[in-house]
Amino acid sequence: MEFSRACRAGAESWLVDLFALAPHAKFLHGESDHCWQRLRRIARANLSPLVLEGRQPGGQLSTTTLVENYPGFPEGIDGPELILNIHKQAETFGARFTYAEVTDFDGGSKHVRIKADDEWLDTQALIIASGASARYLGLENEEKLIGHGLTSCATCDGAFYKNVPVCVVGGGDSAAEESLFLTRFASKVYLIHRRDKMRASVIMQERVFANKKIEPIWNTVVTKYIPDEKGEMRAVRLRNVETNEERELDVACVFVAIGHDPNTKAYRGKLDMDADGYLIPKKLVESKYPGVFIAGDVADRVYKQAVTAAGMGCAAAMEAERYLSKLEPHS
Ligand code: NAP
Repeated sequence: MEFSRACRAGAESWLVDLFALAPHAKFLHGESDHCWQRLRRIARANLSPLVLEGRQPGGQLSTTTLVENYPGFPEGIDGPELILNIHKQAETFGARFTYAEVTDFDGGSKHVRIKADDEWLDTQALIIASGASARYLGLENEEKLIGHGLTSCATCDGAFYKNVPVCVVGGGDSAAEESLFLTRFASKVYLIHRRDKMRASVIMQERVFANKKIEPIWNTVVTKYIPDEKGEMRAVRLRNVETNEERELDVACVFVAIGHDPNTKAYRGKLDMDADGYLIPKKLVESKYPGVFIAGDVADRVYKQAVTAAGMGCAAAMEAERYLSKLEPHS
């Protein structure tokens, strides 16, 4: 059987697990909460799903603070706690997890094939829910400075910057949320935005403007990171886009919050996607290949909320179940 041939080379325990699932192995490629929502649903249908969690298990919600707009939590819930709950719930119903990352895809064979950590694997159904990753500014020395005063995650790194000035770049909900969170630690939070209006929701804007520790710097872009002699962030160079005036601003850390790129590299040239890499479903959650479904931020450039992604996840799981139930046994 094609599936077992694909798995024979693998000695990793997760491959062994996978082997045990044949011939009804199903993969969920994803690192986001919606992936786990789907898992729970598929697991409830006794389909023994396997999730390839990728490099950032839990996805974006695992690096966020209070989630106030996910239904069922009147006081809100911390993103990492929500993720752990969903993970536990999925496991209760038999879902399996591994950290493998999908790097290639072939939807045209008898079975769907994915390359995960250098192994080609076959599956009968695949749900792509790999979410999106933080975008950076693309300035000089960026890669070197990540982790040395440059980050996209206030929850992860904010506490390292106590009583020093920091800046956040962006004008959306993420920038607002990161700025507010950072006021717990930093002496000052500069919010650097390229326009004179935030695109964040009104309630988040109100909170930002009411916080005395946050100072918005409008119509301004960061043009250069300035490290100290040890290679740690010391300052940034700013340019006012209206006046072209330039200046230096001392900050110990730059938190970049300018949006995300969908994690769809493995599917480039193989699945339909737009110029920014967002997957384009054929119908709600269906791809052009039978057995391959799409859900969450990989295909959503508009709503991008945990609850909308979970909803798409539910739809993808139902379609996958339906698809599998129509297949010949052991095909
Ligand atoms: P976003 O809404 O796309 O905002 C990105 C911000 O970064 C925009 O203000 C944009 O400026 C700016 N930007 C983009 N590229 C830039 C560049 N190269 N240089 C400088 N600035 C740049 O992204 P997000 O804030 O990550 O939010 C994404 C989605 O998640 C949204 O739907 C948001 O509502 C949701 N979200 C919700 C919450 C919450 O409800 N608590 C929290 C976080 C995120 P312009 O405005 O000029 O385009």
